Amino acid sequence: MRINYGEEIRRRVSMPEVCRCYGIDVDIHNFTKCPFHHEKTASMKIYDDGAHCYGCGLQFNSVIDFVMKYFQIDFLTACDKLNKDFSLGLPIGHIPTLREQREAEKMMAERKAAAEARQREREEVQNEYYFALDDYTRLDKQRIDNMPCDPSAEIDDKYIEAVTKMPMAEERLINAERRLWEYEHRR
Ligand SMILES: [Zn+2]
Repeated sequence: MRINYGEEIRRRVSMPEVCRCYGIDVDIHNFTKCPFHHEKTASMKIYDDGAHCYGCGLQFNSVIDFVMKYFQIDFLTACDKLNKDFSLGLPIGHIPTLREQREAEKMMAERKAAAEARQREREEVQNEYYFALDDYTRLDKQRIDNMPCDPSAEIDDKYIEAVTKMPMAEERLINAERRLWEYEHRR
C-alpha cells in the first residue's frame, strides 16, 4: 500500500490557509481576484477545500490542484511544497522505511475507524430522535382522536393509554433532541 500524502495534505491544509500563506487577499465574503485571468473585481470564491472562479470558470477541487496551477508545478512538487511551506513533516521525497509505512498505515486505519464510529454514532442519535418523535406524535394523535367529547362521556382506554404514556414519550423526545443538538454542535 502506498501512503496517500495527498489525502493527508488536503485534510490538514485548508484553502483559506493557502491563500494567507501565498499572499492572496480574500475578502470577508471569501472572494478574491482570480490569479488566472485579469479582472478588476474579485470573482473567485474560496471554499475550505477548493476554489471556483465565476469569471473564467476555473474550478479547484483541492488545495493541491490550486497550488499546481498557481505555481505551474506537478502533483508531487505541489505536495512537496505544501509539506514544506506548512511544516507538515510528511516524509515526501524519500522512500518510506517499513516502519514509517506501518505507522502511516496504522494512522490511516485508526482514522478510518474513528470516522466509522462517528458515522455510527450519528445514525444512532438521529434514529433515536426520529423514533422518539414518531412515538410522541403517534400518542398525541391517539389522545386527540379518543378525547372524550363531553365530561359525562365514558373515557376511552386508548385516551387513558395515550395520556399515561405521553409524559415519558415527551421526556424521551426532549432527551433525544438534546443529544442531537449536542452531537451537531460538537467540535
Ligand atoms: Zn478566473
